[in-house]
Amino acid sequence: MQIPLSNPDITDLEKKAVQEVLNTPNLSLGPKIPEFEKVAADFAGVKFAAAMSGGTAVLHTIVKALGIGKGDSVLTTPFSFVATANCLLYEGAEPIFVDIDEDTYNINPESVEQAYLALPPEKREKVKAVIYVDVFGVPADGPGFESLGEKYGLRIVDDAAEALGSAANGRKCGSFGDAGLFAFYPNKQITTGEGGILLTNNEEIFRIAVSLRNQGRDAGAGWLRHARLGYNYRMSDINAALGIAQFKRIEEMLAKRRMVREMYNQHFSHIFARGLLLSQKTSPGSFLSPFVYVLRLAGNYKRGVRDRLLAFLGEAGIQCSNYFTPIHLQPYFEELGWKYGDMPVAENISERTVALPFYNNLTEKEIEYVVQKVDDFFTAN
Ligand SMILES: *Cc1c(COP(=O)(O)O)cnc(C)c1O
Repeated sequence: MQIPLSNPDITDLEKKAVQEVLNTPNLSLGPKIPEFEKVAADFAGVKFAAAMSGGTAVLHTIVKALGIGKGDSVLTTPFSFVATANCLLYEGAEPIFVDIDEDTYNINPESVEQAYLALPPEKREKVKAVIYVDVFGVPADGPGFESLGEKYGLRIVDDAAEALGSAANGRKCGSFGDAGLFAFYPNKQITTGEGGILLTNNEEIFRIAVSLRNQGRDAGAGWLRHARLGYNYRMSDINAALGIAQFKRIEEMLAKRRMVREMYNQHFSHIFARGLLLSQKTSPGSFLSPFVYVLRLAGNYKRGVRDRLLAFLGEAGIQCSNYFTPIHLQPYFEELGWKYGDMPVAENISERTVALPFYNNLTEKEIEYVVQKVDDFFTAN
């Protein structure tokens, strides 16, 4: 058996939608972009949405729209995809990492506040914002971060690139703080091939981000009039049409994902009961729309064992991965002075986690096979 780590859920509906755009002259800057943005904004429950070429592009425009640049710093998580911190480096701003919660793998407002207050005053006044992530789809404490932002005058960014459909206190992830985002790479809850979308209730952030994605042009000004240094971060209408079709199936798609997670949990229950594996926890009041299925080796298991498990599953045709290597241990962050030992919880969890195949159309038979192989591994080790 060969089981991929992820696999997009594309039907005839998506294929037809893309085909229809290809039969028009509007492959870009056409009507599918505002249509997609309306659907995404309504889904997230925000006023404005701006589609872009990727989630990283969205993060970059948010940082710029918030006026964060050289000399500024931002509190963020080390346990995420690198884009969360790269968007700061693009602008010469400094990421300050705060260690994560052991159960949810998210940073939380309490530890961020503690880290903020522990900074010497001259460093503290440079902190402009918090970028938090709803890791693997598990909602972070959005309401708590909003209160923190108000208390200290910090801007709040909700990176919900992995959390489309998740919610905290009845509000969708991506809708919290000053701005948020979804991303649409093929392993995410829904895909546009490549793509991302900015979500905000702040018209000024929206206006600047829309200009930045389109070479710095302002709305209503001429094609060759560039008000600011911009980028080509546009999404094409082909990608947007794919996204609109995926949103038409959103309830079905998210339900499938939740069911696959449920099946995994059931089949793993005997291994959970033996205390060998742990799964990520959600906080009370949160609704999980899972991005990946990540398990963590419990007890005395350490890095060597996790890597042998990855190899063992790989040999059995099961594609899996070590989600995530902490951002502060990437080579160019180590050059900035971060080192092993700075974020003990994130480091410990990252040495013990295994992402297993996870996608909408994963069958129960395949799940049984994966669980059997994990069981075999524990028997032999
Ligand atoms: C996927 C992802 C992004 C965006 O990535 P792109 O590949 O640029 O779309 C941003 N943040 C997190 C946490 C992600 O997982």
